[in-house]
Amino acid sequence: MSAHLNPFAMAQAQLDEAARYLHLDPATHEFLRWPKKEVQVTFSVRMDDGSVRVFRGFRVQYNDARGPAKGGIRFHPEETIDTVRALAAWMTWKTAVMNLPLGGGKGGVIVDPRELSPYELERLSRAYVRAVGAEMFGLRKDVPAPDVYTNAQIMAWMMDEYATIVGHTEFGMITGKPIPLGGSLGRNDATARGGMYVLREAARTLGLELQGATTAIQGYGNAGHFAHSLGQKLLGLKVVAVSDSKGAIYNPEGLDPQAVYRHKRETGSVVDFPGAENITNAELLTLPVDVLIPAALEGVLTEDNADQVKAKIILELANGPTTPEADRIFHERGIYVLPDFLANAGGVTVSYFEMVQNAYNYYWDAETVYERLDRKMTEAYRAVHAAAEEHGVHNRLAAYIVAVARVVEAMKLRGWV
Ligand code: GLU
Repeated sequence: MSAHLNPFAMAQAQLDEAARYLHLDPATHEFLRWPKKEVQVTFSVRMDDGSVRVFRGFRVQYNDARGPAKGGIRFHPEETIDTVRALAAWMTWKTAVMNLPLGGGKGGVIVDPRELSPYELERLSRAYVRAVGAEMFGLRKDVPAPDVYTNAQIMAWMMDEYATIVGHTEFGMITGKPIPLGGSLGRNDATARGGMYVLREAARTLGLELQGATTAIQGYGNAGHFAHSLGQKLLGLKVVAVSDSKGAIYNPEGLDPQAVYRHKRETGSVVDFPGAENITNAELLTLPVDVLIPAALEGVLTEDNADQVKAKIILELANGPTTPEADRIFHERGIYVLPDFLANAGGVTVSYFEMVQNAYNYYWDAETVYERLDRKMTEAYRAVHAAAEEHGVHNRLAAYIVAVARVVEAMKLRGWV
């Protein structure tokens, strides 16, 4: 993998830039460039046909100065230790920019879960928890959650497996759980919803009208498909293009979220949606739209396509969609980027609310979740915007300045640096 597409090299390069602005001393900077703790595990799973398959998995606790490590677990065929390290670093900045009393972590298994039966998926999820073990996971140490290709059912199996290891049920050891097992209302669409609150605030700052603003969404998983429906419902966005791993669709008149979602459920993809033109994922990214929402994987906006992007605002619901080179180009071209660890922090924010509800065993209604999420997202956006103005920098660097300063403050108070 070339350096500019290695996500961990990208995360380190972003940090290095913030470190210069913050005049971090060399020891503090060096500490923040690396995960504090990580494990790589090999484990086996019995397949339905009786054969055994061997899997590789990871869990990285990037930094826990401000509280227990927090972050999702991805099941992905192209997972690597470096993608997980990068994602764990971004979780550290995400919880810090949101001012949550948490650190950052991430986990992953190299697997394409779409090839597994539900029983195989359950055995894999449980085996991963046993392999990483109670030395890593725990309410006060490291609290996982869903991410790409994992969901509430998988969280339930993992929570249950952990309960068998420690001898009691502890809902708060994992978030994104089903509602009957200590899940929080509003967690399911929280990433997209939080993103919409940030987009609303940004439009206010820029004096932009979002009602009818044309929008393209790359990715139709948890973040992407809720961005489609909530973007329309909360802000009146006109979503003209969406995509998944198989391809993209485009209709300049707008796409109905319910109809597209039904088509994807029935056929396995958004492609071939009646009344829309099939295009490629690459074409989607450079459509003439007002708002572009990357909501899939890292590294899609690069120096190769950044010049052709026509959107005025990029709302990063994916983690790490923009390389540092593309960032520079967007900044020069006056494209307003709402950076990932601010824009997509709604998920972990409601995960934090879930931990709080688990801790006092009393559950909030959806309206309370939405209101508190709105307040947190709005505050975080304003802090980042203020830093951008103060230092005359783009939003990502501003978000880093806010987040890294908070982590460093905690590290200094603890006497680590
Ligand atoms: N996987 C989500 C993220 O990247 C949520 C993490 C969490 O809820 O802990 O932010």
